[in-house]
This record gives sequence, structure tokens and C-alpha cells, in this order.
Amino acid sequence: MLDKAPNGKVSDLLDALGKALSAGEVDRAVDLFQTDCYWRDLVTFTWNIKTMEGKEQISDMLKARLADTRPSNWKIAEGEDASEADGITESWIQFETAVARGFGHLRLKDGRIWTLLTTMSELKGHEEPLGFDRPMGAKHGAERHRKTWKEDREAESAELGFSRQPYCVIVGGGQGGIALAARLRQLNVPTIIVEKNQKPGDSWRKRYKSLCLHDPVWYDHLPYLPFPRNWPVFSPKDKIGDWLEMYTKVMELNYWGSTECKKASYDENSREWTVVVQRDGKEIILKPKQLVLATGMSAKPNMPKFEGMDIFKGDQHHSSQHPGPDKYKNSKVVVIGSNNSAHDICAALWEAGADVTMVQRSTTHIVKSDSLMELGLAALYSEQAVQSGMTTAKADLIFASLPYRILHEFQIPVYNAIRERDADFYKRLEKAGFLLDYGDDDSGLFMKYLRRGSGYYIDVGASELIANGSIKLKSGVDVKRLTEHSVILSDGTELPADLVVYATGYGSMNGWAADLISKEVADKVGKVWGLGSNTTKDPGPWEGEQRNMWKPTQQEGLWFHGGNLHQSRHYSQFLSLQLKARMEGIATPVHGLQKVHHLG
Ligand SMILES: Cc1cc2nc3c(=O)[nH]c(=O)nc-3n(C[C@H](O)[C@H](O)[C@H](O)COP(=O)(O)OP(=O)(O)OC[C@H]3O[C@@H](n4cnc5c(N)ncnc54)[C@H](O)[C@@H]3O)c2cc1C
Repeated sequence: MLDKAPNGKVSDLLDALGKALSAGEVDRAVDLFQTDCYWRDLVTFTWNIKTMEGKEQISDMLKARLADTRPSNWKIAEGEDASEADGITESWIQFETAVARGFGHLRLKDGRIWTLLTTMSELKGHEEPLGFDRPMGAKHGAERHRKTWKEDREAESAELGFSRQPYCVIVGGGQGGIALAARLRQLNVPTIIVEKNQKPGDSWRKRYKSLCLHDPVWYDHLPYLPFPRNWPVFSPKDKIGDWLEMYTKVMELNYWGSTECKKASYDENSREWTVVVQRDGKEIILKPKQLVLATGMSAKPNMPKFEGMDIFKGDQHHSSQHPGPDKYKNSKVVVIGSNNSAHDICAALWEAGADVTMVQRSTTHIVKSDSLMELGLAALYSEQAVQSGMTTAKADLIFASLPYRILHEFQIPVYNAIRERDADFYKRLEKAGFLLDYGDDDSGLFMKYLRRGSGYYIDVGASELIANGSIKLKSGVDVKRLTEHSVILSDGTELPADLVVYATGYGSMNGWAADLISKEVADKVGKVWGLGSNTTKDPGPWEGEQRNMWKPTQQEGLWFHGGNLHQSRHYSQFLSLQLKARMEGIATPVHGLQKVHHLG
């Protein structure tokens, strides 16, 4: 056979796939895949976020979904060319279904599909008003009693939630709730965000004083409105707070600040939620069809219970309540925990002159920020990536195209290279007694984040203070009890303390469902987050996708949204389309609704 150029190979393959799918010939379509193959679908075929692993799962999905989905027009995406390297041919692709337009990514190995990503870009007939279709703003001509944009906005605010019910209520107005609401606004889905803090951005503003984002700017853009090119690489927390406040305003979101959601219940007959909120001290009942919990993975503090906490005479608080170091300049401080917050807080206290001891119970993964940026993120999220033509949307999709099942295989070499590059640094940390890990299978930070959302520190300086003894360290021990003026550790050490900070992490988002809805509903939907990797804090069985995030749950009308800025940006697109389709009455039969293996 003649060796074809990459475009030819991909076009032939897509042609064959399109023909087999149009003819309903599932076996012929599946034959175009490698034995070891993955098809990740974000909403187009499955109305779910789902990775089909291997031919059998792909075949099952197609048998269930092909007739409805009616895919067509498979081709290399407009303006793109396929490419080839190391025996893999890859290409951006586009296609349509009966109700939507899709975009995706394909990798071929030996002429057959190894990975396929299909994502929904827009619903036909419900496209966002962009470019040529953008709103006019001004209404040219003459009209009696016309209303201005401002009057229309004021009327909407006065009506929505009172004389007219929102289709969707989002509980939690951090970046997650805000990004999702921005997309729903463009899709014309009436939405209210309910946020107990006064203003957008407050969830960042209220965090400890020294906090700057740990992820760089290229990774952090919100939908529609990227940060300007002079935005700092690592946003200080109050600056990101201001950006979110501005964003909420210019994206015209219905944001109810100083409003706490007290409880919510679902009526299976009317298929409607009753959401009780307290707004500026007044109770209001909202009746949406869809309820999104965007209450944050890092918003439910895990406060440990130690004997003697009630008699301790100094200050003690969870890291989320830590006001910063100013009050503790000459204090003896014990910080319990050894992840991001613990390190940031210890470093800021040391800078202020406090005498600080970190208590590390078990191993922590440390990666230097510049190594992570250069070896972990640069190809997709960096100035170099931007200069070489990489867009945020493409970077997100390339990332999404790597199936979770094999993602660690791509990550292990990155962290091996980081270990080699920073070998001296790690040696010095170990010498200081710090207990290190690199993830259960050496796959490093990002897999830890996806699997358990904890267990690491991106080093921006605190590790050096630990290595040189400026921040004292007690490792491999737990807290036994507190006395009036000290912390007693399990090895008998007594640490005098004026302040104890519990940097002990956050509870699962599932806890919010229990608090706001009921234990029954929380148990019905099960654990939120994690992949089922059977690694520490992420018990099996394998789920293939993050549990309950951005996709249908076992509770009709209940959704979870959140994650880091990258995830909020990327997955809000697919959650917004799922909600819009439901509002428009488009059939959304979910393929492979996840089973519940673990309660919260
Ligand atoms: C110290 C620290 C550093 C971090 N650094 C980064 C980083 O560099 N990059 C990154 O992407 N992420 C980072 N994160 C993760 C960060 O938590 C999330 O990215 C971000 O806050 C998640 O946004 P969210 O909207 O999902 O949740 P949150 O920002 O936590 O927002 C949830 C909101 O829900 C509200 N809420 C909860 N219950 C109710 C209720 N009953 N009624 C009304 N409102 C309610 C809360 O007030 C809160 O504002 C960090 C987190 C911490 C703690």
C-alpha cells in the first residue's frame, strides 16, 4: 500500500468511520479501532462524560446510542492539518449529530484509532450569539416607551426568583459557579447564583493573606474573557477576587450575594427543586428544575478532633480561617499538616518572625513550581505554547484527549525527569527529615489531584526553609493531645504553642449534598471526585472519569461543578450544554450513568 500523507490517512479513516456509522454497522465501525483503544465522549453520543475503554465498550455504546445520535459529516477540522510523529498520526476533527455540532481529536496507530475524543461544541438551533450573530446592543429606529439595556437588566433582577423562576440555581458563587453561569447566560438559560459571601471573589479574598494562585495564568483563564497579556503569572488572591467580581458584572450574571442556601428538596412528580435561601436575613423559596452544587472542593474544612483542644489557651484555627501572620510575629506556632496550605502559612509566619514548627504525619509530594511549569505544563500552558500558536481551547482539548486510564503513563516520565533535575533539592529535604512521595505509582502531582485532590505542595519557597531548618519539622508523628500551652506529639515531644493551625484539608463535596439536601440523596449519588484508581484515598473499582463531576448523577436534576480554574473553564461548557438541552426538551438519554460504589 502506498504510504499516504497524514491528511489522507485521517480523511480515509474518517470516511470509513462515517460510512459505517451512517449505515448502522457497529462491527464495521469498531473494526476501525485498535484492540487497545479509547473513545472519550463529552456529551455528544452519551449525554454523559464517559470514556469507553476497548472495543467491547465502544460497541456497547454504539449499539445503545448510534440510532439516536445519527452522526455525520466526519472530517478533519476546518483549517487544520493532520500530523505524524513517533508512529502516531493525529488530527483535530469535526462532525455533527442529529442535534449538535461536535469537535474532537483523533490519534491513529498503525492506521487504526487509538484514542478518539468527541466533544459537543453547540446545539443546533441554540448556538451562542457570537461573531456575526452577536447582539446589536443598540436598537436602531424609533419605538415608544423603549427600555434601555440597564432597565432591562434591572427588570430581570427584580423578576427572576420572584415572579419568574430560574431554570437553574447554582449554589456557590466561586469561580466554578461564575464560569458556569456565564455560559448559561450565553445559552439563555435563566439562572441564579446563590452565594453566602457578600461579593464575587470573596472565597479567594477570605483565604490566608499570602496566597497567590499556584497555577500559572495560561492555565487559569475564564470562559469568553481571557486575562490580558500583562496579567501576572501567579495571581495574588485578592487580584483574582477582583477579576471574578468584574467578570460577574460584565457577564451580566444574576448573582445573589449574602444569600445562603439553607436546604433543598426534589419533588419527583413535578421534577422541580424547592430551594430555601436566606437573602439578607429574609427567606426566599426558589423553584428551579436544575440544581448545581458549586460549593467548592476546598470549602468544607476538615477540622480534626484532638484531646485537649478545649483547654488550649492560645489561638487555634483551621487553615481556611488563618488571618495571616501579622498578629503572630513573635509567637510560637505549630502547623499541623504538610500540604500546600501548611507550607504557604508556615513560610508567611516565618517571614513575619514567628517560631514555626510543621508537623508532618505522612508523606507529601513536593514539586518545585518552575520545574512543574517547564516540564509539566509548558507544552500546553505557557508563553512559549502561546507563541507557537497553542490556544487555551486546544490545550484543554489535548489534555482531555488523554484517557484517564493511561494518563499516569504520560505523567511518570515527567516526574522522573523532575526528580532527576531536582535531585539535590529532594536530598536536602529528606536530610531535614521531610517524608517525600511522588504518588503511589510515581505519577506525581496532577494524578494526585485527580485521584484525591490533596497530598502535595507546589514549592514556591517554603521547602528551602524546611531544608535549612528555618521552619522546624517534626515528621512521621501525629498529634496526641493539646495542653493549655502546648501540643504533645505521638513520640512524646512537647511543642510549646501560642497558635495551632490545622492545615488538615477539606471534606468531600458529597458532604454538601448531605448538608443541604439529605443524607439519603448524598448516599444515592455517592462519593464525589476521584477516578477509582485504587490508590491512596481513591478506592476502586475503576470509574474511568471523575465521580459525579459535571455530568448526570443518580439524582435527577442534581449536578456537581467545580475543580481548579482549568476544569471550571473546560467542563462548564459541557455542563451548560447538558442543562440547555434539558431546558429545550431535547432528548438526553444518558449512556452509562455511573454506579455508586462509595458513599461520601
Ligand atoms: C489554599 C488554596 C490554594 C489554591 N490554589 C489554587 C490555584 O492556584 N489554582 C486553582 O485553580 N485552584 C486553587 N485552589 C483550589 C480552589 O479551591 C479552587 O480552584 C476554587 O476555589 C474552586 O472554586 P469553586 O467555585 O469550585 O469553589 P469555591 O471558591 O470554594 O467557592 C464555593 C462557594 O460556595 C459558597 N457556598 C458554600 N455553601 C454555600 C451555601 N449553603 N449557600 C451559599 N453559598 C455557599 C462558598 O461561600 C464559596 O464562595 C486552591 C485552594 C486553596 C484552599
